[in-house]
Amino acid sequence: MQRRSFIKSTALTLGSLAFLSRKTLAAFLADPAFEIEMLTQNMGIFTERGGTILFMLGKKGIIVVDAQFPDTAQHCIAEIKKKTSQPFDLLINTHHHGDHTAGNIAFKGIASHILAHKNSKKNQEAAAIKNKKEAAQLYPDMVYDTKWSSKYSKEKLSLHYFGRGHTDGDSFVHFEKANIVHTGDLVFNRRHPFVDRSAGANIGEWIKTLDNATSFFKPDTVYVCGHAAEGSDVVINKADILLFRNYLVNVLQFTKESIDKGLSREDFLKNTSIPGSPEWKGDGINRPLEAAWDELHENVK
Ligand SMILES: [Zn+2]
Ligand SMILES: [Zn+2]
Repeated sequence: MQRRSFIKSTALTLGSLAFLSRKTLAAFLADPAFEIEMLTQNMGIFTERGGTILFMLGKKGIIVVDAQFPDTAQHCIAEIKKKTSQPFDLLINTHHHGDHTAGNIAFKGIASHILAHKNSKKNQEAAAIKNKKEAAQLYPDMVYDTKWSSKYSKEKLSLHYFGRGHTDGDSFVHFEKANIVHTGDLVFNRRHPFVDRSAGANIGEWIKTLDNATSFFKPDTVYVCGHAAEGSDVVINKADILLFRNYLVNVLQFTKESIDKGLSREDFLKNTSIPGSPEWKGDGINRPLEAAWDELHENVK
């Protein structure tokens, strides 16, 4: 059992650590918290901290989608190296957030190229300057606008920009033959999403972006999303995406009704659930509520 799930399942406290023998404790502390799940013979996901990493072990090189953080990216690189002697060819960032790009630096001198939407690069640069973290960045050296495609042996890889959503630079990354799409943070499976209005996020546009994507990809496409609630999977299907799409519709509708009723922003933010979307529970409801409130007031101006 991985350390993370061990902590989850036993609600381990410092007190209970005292009951472990020294040897067990050493093994426990040395056991990294990551998990790898193979989806096909040569594609898998790596989860530890931050956005889900998807990787393909190609015949001529490795493709990695998203990079989490510098330390967890090192774990991912080490685990992939155990599976293949091929070089790292391409690293893709689904978008600029630190839990997807801070680990880029671990691929310095390892990955041949880094690819992202042009706004992802722009947002990464702006955030690094703002947070004074420029030295810790490794930026994409390849960007695209609406679509990017390339063949990798038998696989065809395509990136699509279907519009604004979680930011204004989110890609859908499609491994066409495997029929697997990484959605980045365009989907939060049964978990309240972060809506980054400072980087161009818009809930109304997000709904359209998900409509574009789900009508473009096949009904049986397998999706990998950036984040999921505790107990929910990051490997999802079209129905899960449509459920999240409807959650976003419900967030906007609920917000509009509350504004129309004359509720104050302060009282509105006291809500603990979204009517019509009982699957979304837990922390972080303030994020969509604040974003929807501000978005609807911006539209009135
Ligand atoms: Zn994320
Ligand atoms: Zn994000």
